[in-house]
Amino acid sequence: MTRRRQIYEGKAKILYEGPEPGTLIQYFKDDATAFNAQKKGTISGKGVLNNRISEHIFTMLGNIGVPTHFIRRLNMREQLIRQVEIIPIEVVVRNVAAGSIVKRLGIEEGLQLPRTIIEYYYKDDALGDPMIADEHIACFGWASQEEMHDIADMAIRVNDFLCGLFAGIGIRLVDFKLEFGRIWDNDFARVLLADEISPDGCRLWDIATGEKLDKDRFRQNLGGEVEAYQEIARRLGLLPEGADTTVLDMEQHRKKRDK
Ligand code: UDP
Repeated sequence: MTRRRQIYEGKAKILYEGPEPGTLIQYFKDDATAFNAQKKGTISGKGVLNNRISEHIFTMLGNIGVPTHFIRRLNMREQLIRQVEIIPIEVVVRNVAAGSIVKRLGIEEGLQLPRTIIEYYYKDDALGDPMIADEHIACFGWASQEEMHDIADMAIRVNDFLCGLFAGIGIRLVDFKLEFGRIWDNDFARVLLADEISPDGCRLWDIATGEKLDKDRFRQNLGGEVEAYQEIARRLGLLPEGADTTVLDMEQHRKKRDK
């Protein structure tokens, strides 16, 4: 295999130069971090599952008209994406109280919020991704008013779609994080949904049992992380029904076969 130029390495993914200008390859690692990277670990097989889950969700969002950076999945850990200028804002959508909002506002975990909340955080690890308001975004020029309008609009559309998708497979979409990027067309910038949507950046609770099927299993040392991610993939119809091979087995089998 030819050596590709690495563009960026993040906590859970690596970006490589793509085959054509304006494209990148997004590689999904098994590394997991939590609490602003104070807790680190590996969840074997996570990258394979997140690649597949994110492909599925981005494809469906594309089908309903949400513009995304996703082009196609290349193999078990990689997907081809459009190169975007990442907007340095994490967009969190909440339907049910959990995580930081519980601590910040002293409300009970599991409280169904009377309306969906959208929050913004400034993407800066050194600052611990502080929460920000629209005013900060406008003041520091992180995104234009028009872009923020598109972002809020897309966040609501994604939420409506995902709530229905997950409810249909017995899962409550508690909250999730989105990232957006812009692409330039001459002087005109267009906003695309970027990054990934997977159990790493969503809270997904089983409706029947309340069981957490997301990265909180890692954050809270609950164990069974890969099984939870696998359960999400299985319910989404992305793993063969009744298959007793794990994702890791599948990956090793393909590697041997392709040698
Ligand atoms: N989230 C994320 N990356 C971050 C912060 C949050 O993917 O850097 C996701 C997280 O998985 C959850 C949602 O955004 O689904 C809301 O997270 P919260 O603000 O409650 O923070 P946390 O509890 O993760 O510190």
